[in-house]
Amino acid sequence: MIPQSFEYTAAKTIDEALAAVAAGAKPLAGGMSLIPMMKLRLSAPERVVDIGRLKELNYIREDAAGIHIGAATTHYDVESSGLIRGKCPLLAETAAHIGDVQVRNMGTIGGSVAHADPSADYPAAMQALEAKFVLKSAKGERTISAAEFFIDTFATALDMGEIVREVIVPVEPPGVGTSYQKLLQPASGFAIVGVAARIVRSGGKISMVRIGVTGLAGHSYRAAAAEDALNGKSGSAAEIQNAAALVPQGVEANSDLHASAEYRKHLAVVYAARALTAALARTA
Ligand code: FAD
Repeated sequence: MIPQSFEYTAAKTIDEALAAVAAGAKPLAGGMSLIPMMKLRLSAPERVVDIGRLKELNYIREDAAGIHIGAATTHYDVESSGLIRGKCPLLAETAAHIGDVQVRNMGTIGGSVAHADPSADYPAAMQALEAKFVLKSAKGERTISAAEFFIDTFATALDMGEIVREVIVPVEPPGVGTSYQKLLQPASGFAIVGVAARIVRSGGKISMVRIGVTGLAGHSYRAAAAEDALNGKSGSAAEIQNAAALVPQGVEANSDLHASAEYRKHLAVVYAARALTAALARTA
């Protein structure tokens, strides 16, 4: 469990970090995923640049575009932020589901999305929230949606030399109800299946619904067919069940020693129904 030897630098500025990444260094944030992978020799970078201590990447602030969260913000800071709890509660709720308190104190939002573990919790919320990621390299910056960002298992739209600089989530509209429900893998806390739901109901009808899913497939996704099935409906138990049944449709489900593909699909229906029911109960 000893990693291959590597050169370590702690970046003092984001520009210093970007120059190192452009020259081939691997970013290290909370180290909660990278260090175990290096110890197992699944990853063997020759150079590592520590971006976890950069103040320039550690902030939570709001403007007209939404809530901006610096990539090095820890899960604990997201979970306990008054701004996020008040204006984007789904994200705070999801952060609180990650691992244990030690992991939440070290792990970062940028590290989690960049790692793109198919069982990570944040991606479900990112899909449901239609989050945006600001990616930065020494050459410039671009903004990309969560739907475009997550490509496959441990694969994202990050180009060589790019890092995640910040995550942007919306300020929720008044009356929205949200919920994240997951079956966790008891040893790690990762989601065997996790579903994030957001609902707005006006005049007794659902006028907005978003469903993000993690754990089921190679990467997180939005369950568009299930969303369409609920739009304009009152949200009765039967309508929720019908919509939840569409969540795993057409998906190539993961299978491992914790859950077969068939069982994961069953769980996706169960946890989608739970998330939708809880979100609906929280609508004003
Ligand atoms: P690191 O480990 O430092 O980096 C991970 C990867 O992302 C590396 O490839 C690194 O180069 C890259 N990277 C880091 N930051 C950036 C950036 N800003 N831009 C580009 N690339 C970057 N996660 C869950 O979702 N749910 C769980 O229940 C859960 N349980 C866990 C339990 C344990 C015991 C452990 C050790 C981890 C668990 N995790 C869980 C993972 C945890 O959330 C990690 O914090 C997260 O996946 C990675 O974040 P990090 O900041 O530690 O990144």
